[in-house]
Formats: sequence, structure tokens, C-alpha cells
Amino acid sequence: MSLDHRLTVEHEELRRTVEAFAHEVIAPKIGAFYERHEFPYEIVAEMGRMGLFGLPFPEEYGGMGGDYLALGIALEELARVDSSVAITLEAAVSLGAMPIFRFGTEEQKRRWLPRLCSGETLGAFGLTEPGAGSDAGGIRTTAVRDEAAGEWVINGSKSFITNAGTDITALVTVTAVTGRTPDGKPLISSVIVPSGTPGLTVAPAYSKVGWNASDTRELSFDGVRVPLANLVGAEGRGYAQFLRILDEGRIAISALATGLAQGCVDESLKYARERYAFGRPIGQNQAIQFKIADMETRAHMARVGWRDAASRLVRGEPFKKEAAVAKLYSSTVAVDNAREATQIHGGYGFMNEYPVARMWRDSKILEIGEGTSEVQRMLIARELGLTG
Ligand SMILES: Cc1cc2nc3c(=O)[nH]c(=O)nc-3n(C[C@H](O)[C@H](O)[C@H](O)COP(=O)(O)OP(=O)(O)OC[C@H]3O[C@@H](n4cnc5c(N)ncnc54)[C@H](O)[C@@H]3O)c2cc1C
Repeated sequence: MSLDHRLTVEHEELRRTVEAFAHEVIAPKIGAFYERHEFPYEIVAEMGRMGLFGLPFPEEYGGMGGDYLALGIALEELARVDSSVAITLEAAVSLGAMPIFRFGTEEQKRRWLPRLCSGETLGAFGLTEPGAGSDAGGIRTTAVRDEAAGEWVINGSKSFITNAGTDITALVTVTAVTGRTPDGKPLISSVIVPSGTPGLTVAPAYSKVGWNASDTRELSFDGVRVPLANLVGAEGRGYAQFLRILDEGRIAISALATGLAQGCVDESLKYARERYAFGRPIGQNQAIQFKIADMETRAHMARVGWRDAASRLVRGEPFKKEAAVAKLYSSTVAVDNAREATQIHGGYGFMNEYPVARMWRDSKILEIGEGTSEVQRMLIARELGLTG
């Protein structure tokens, strides 16, 4: 058993590269995009050229040949500076490309993955519906076979879908009911719907509390027809597939939450040294020092949590409980750290021009997206053998 949590030389090199990129390229520009609620195409293109969208995929599909740890490291460093670009990467990789990589046919992989890995296009994953979020097995969208035409006919709608409406969105993989078991339970399958397919309507971007430079849309499907070959994996396996995708995605979200928690420490440290009150820097007060010490402790433990879950995934070991623990803990501490960082900044913390204001607005969704904190507790309790 190895207890060595140090990064390999390659992972540390990646971490430094993304750290420098986030500070030099993203930090000076992102505030303006956020204020304008605008998707930062140039920054995303640069992330693509760096290979970030292909990190955990093999080179034969245009990826970088890395692993989930590499993805987490990149997400953490991006979110230390900005969460909108981090969630754009997280959703594109874990939710957009990963279902095709894990469950797609060779032809689907060759057709879609190279451009998803280069960041020239983005993929989305449509699971949530107006009436089904945590209870994702309760979806109503249907995909019916038209054997004569060789097509699926899709009807329904999806809510809150990340990366679903950018100019470079290539596809959304949607979960849909494709039949019933003999006892009437829905059989759920995943189907790729390319952007621009007739009958697919992409609503205007939502007005959100945070993640304002990321793209989130409602989608509606009105008689949308796609080839039968767009089925991802076996028919009726969609539920099992998305459980796996969400288990992995939680590790990525946890890394992102850790980055936000650490970014709050970075900003608070800087501010505590520069801001004077009562004739000395506020950081000379023990009350402020203790706040920052607690924030650092939480960020550190969140990092240990997501890296442990990612290491298990990479080694091919069970990681469901550890991913839920990491997601629950890191999202909680992201909110805690954002609240404390804002407090340390006083009135300036309430001004959008300060990064901590953005972090505060971006933190809450971490307790909701890719499984709420209540859902994580349900999963952990179930893994501990508690049922009923
Ligand atoms: C910005 C943003 C981006 C998103 N991106 C995507 C995406 O790309 N793809 C996608 O498919 N979805 C996406 N989502 C949807 C997100 O995953 C859901 O919002 C989330 O899973 C919660 O579902 P819900 O909103 O329907 O809440 P509900 O499921 O209605 O939950 C409401 C409340 O009830 C609680 N609750 C529900 N059931 C129980 C229970 N059994 N016990 C105790 N408490 C319970 C929940 O924890 C929550 O507090 C996104 C959401 C947002 C806001």
C-alpha cells in the first residue's frame, strides 16, 4: 500500500502550466466576460490548444494520454482563478466526451472525439429535466424507434444543460426512455443528438447567480430524428451508464470545488497583508489569521479527498463512496471558504470587481450540481449498508 500523495513529475508540470495560464491569461480577462454574461471563446480555444480538453483520453482519439488525476489537477488550478472556465472544461470532458469514450462504438469515437479533445467543439450531457433532477430515473423524454426510417424519434425537454448552446457545441448526449420492462419500469438509453438537428430547440441562456461566463441552456426536442446508430452503448443501459458518468464527474467537481476553496485562501492572504485597519494590516489580527488557517485546512483536506477518489479510479478500484465523500466535503468547504473570504474583504468583498465576489457567487452551485449534498449523503449511507 502506498500512502504517497505527491504528484508525479508529469502531473506537477501540468499543474504549474495550468497555474501560470490561469494567472496570466484568465485572471486579467475573465471578470469582464463574467459581468457581460459572455462565453469566453478565445480563452476556451487556448485551453484547447494546451490539450486540456483531451487530458484523460488516449492519443489515438486526439487526447493527451493522461488520466483522471490530470483532469482534476487542471480543474483545480483553473478554479483557483475562475469557475466558469473550469466548469466548461469539466462538463465538456466528464459529461460531453466521456460517455462516448466509455460506452460509444469505435465509429462514434472516431467521429466525435478528436474535435472534442482539441476543444474545437464541445459536447454536453442532457440528463436533468424540468420534472426530474435528483430523481433522474424519473425522466419523461422518450426516444422511439422508427425502424423503417432507421431513426430514433425524440420528444421531451432537458433543463440546465451545460455547454449546450455555444457556437462550438457539436452534440448533446441525452437520456431518454426507449421502452418498458415487463413490470412497467422505464428502460433508459443514451442517444447522441448533433447540434442543429431539426426539432431541437436551444433556449436563450439562463440568467444565473454564478458561473456567468459558462453556457447553460434548456433544450426541447420536438420529433427530433437521429440515426439508430447514435445510440450510445446498449439499449436500456442508459441508467447504469449515467450513474458511472456521475460517479466520475463528482471527482472532477470536487477538484473544481477544492480549487475555489484554495482560491479563497490565495485572495484572502493577499488582502490580509495589504488592507490596513487600526494602523496595521488586518492579517496581524489573530481573528483573521485563524479564519485563513481554517480555510487552508479545509482546502487541504478537500484536496486529499478528491485525489484519493481519483487515485482509486485510476487504479481500477471501487471509488463510488470516496467520490461522494469528496464531492460532499469539497463543495461544503468551497461555500464556507467563499463566505469567509468575502468577510475578510469587508465591503470590497461585495463588489463584483474582486475575485472573491465571483467565488462567492460561484460556490453555491457546487452543493447542487452533479448530485446535491443530500444525494451525496444518500449515496454514502447506501455504501455503508443503510437502506430503507
Ligand atoms: C448551472 C447548472 C448546470 C447544470 N448542468 C447540468 C448538465 O450539464 N447536465 C445535466 O443533466 N444537469 C445539469 N444540471 C442539473 C443539476 O444536476 C440538478 O439541478 C441537480 O441534480 C438537482 O436536481 P433538481 O434541480 O431537479 O433538484 P431536485 O431533485 O428537485 O431537488 C430539490 C431539493 O430536494 C432535495 N431532495 C431531492 N430528493 C431528496 C431525497 N430523496 N432526500 C432528501 N432530499 C432530497 C435535493 O437535495 C434538493 O435540495 C445543472 C444545474 C445547474 C444549476
